[in-house]
Amino acid sequence: MSSQTLDKFLHEGLEDLKSQGLYNVIDPLESANGPTIQIQGRQLINLSSNNYLGLATDERLIHACVEATKFAGVGAGAVRTINGTLAVHVELEKKLAEFKHTEAAIAFQSGFNCNMGAISAVMDANDAILSDELNHASIIDGCRLSRAKIIRYKHSDMDDLRKQAKEARDSGKYQKLMVITDGVFSMDGDVAKLPEIIAIADEYDLITYVDDAHGSGVMGGGAGTVAHFGLSDKVDFQIGTLSKAIGVVGGYVAGRQELIDWLKVRARPFLFSTSLTPGSAAACITALDILMSSTELHDKLWANANYFKKGLKDLGFDIGHSESPITPCIIGEEVLTQEFSKRLYDNGVYAKSIVFPTVPRGTGRVRNMPTAAHTKEMLDSALSIYEKVGKELAIL
Ligand SMILES: *Cc1c(COP(=O)(O)O)cnc(C)c1O
Repeated sequence: MSSQTLDKFLHEGLEDLKSQGLYNVIDPLESANGPTIQIQGRQLINLSSNNYLGLATDERLIHACVEATKFAGVGAGAVRTINGTLAVHVELEKKLAEFKHTEAAIAFQSGFNCNMGAISAVMDANDAILSDELNHASIIDGCRLSRAKIIRYKHSDMDDLRKQAKEARDSGKYQKLMVITDGVFSMDGDVAKLPEIIAIADEYDLITYVDDAHGSGVMGGGAGTVAHFGLSDKVDFQIGTLSKAIGVVGGYVAGRQELIDWLKVRARPFLFSTSLTPGSAAACITALDILMSSTELHDKLWANANYFKKGLKDLGFDIGHSESPITPCIIGEEVLTQEFSKRLYDNGVYAKSIVFPTVPRGTGRVRNMPTAAHTKEMLDSALSIYEKVGKELAIL
């Protein structure tokens, strides 16, 4: 007999979501997650992946993954601290430190896992964390797990951050204080004000933690948002993911040697969850080699992003104030935004709508992620579909 309490909870919860139009139906891809994708037999221009540089399908990464898999198997066989640390993991961590201009780095199985482990390895119930209100869900959960007091500051509002940092410091209630921010915010594509954040951190002795999941490979010639501002030796924790621009899977912290040494004995996903597969680790190494040897893909990404942004803007769409390739097309009202995204889909463009509660009410948007792998023809074709749908729905 299944639990009736659970049955009732699940049934009512699902019905509730469905009646509000909030139940997400997932369409599986019948192709790789490239610049075009196939869903239900139809080819679509893909503007929804985080595969910024097209590396997810790069032949060089595939080759590295296959070779490492043949050599070391499909699974690492244990957690890092037992005997799941293979030579390829150590090489990846050395490469990450080089990429991020830090003394050392530690790799995790995902960016999400990394935030689960890294924050609570350092912060506890005697501490407080100042967190941007628009920080990623994994940061929020990582903060909760630490049991530190969470103090939210208004999005990128440096006066609010300074005020709250001062209050927290003056209260004398906390031992350690940390400030945490995304490097690039994923909904609007805006960049954290890192120079000001670092100045405030200096003033109030805050530990600094920057999650640059959307910035690595994208900002600062590829090295990320922290490098973009020339602050590589000023940020304590530089977090990144290996699942977005790097094209594979995994996450990491780059920082001082002692910080990394500490995380290797205290970050729970490192101690209690099996390490990255050898193939994934090898593919990441190849991706980092590519990024460090040439800015070609990075430059192509930006050229495509600028071209697409200008195209949408020239058509008359509101594209917000992105400072990264993330290109929101702000439609406004929730139902209209969803209808817009659906019509794009019907016409051959895959670009997901993002509405309340993920973004504030009335700021529903279709979020576009142009990548280095798109051709000009694909972008032109997407723009003409945008124009058609914009006119059909009287947005233009
Ligand atoms: C995507 C993202 C993550 C999660 O990374 P995964 O490697 O996909 O788990 C973590 N933090 C931020 C800021 C992100 O945007």
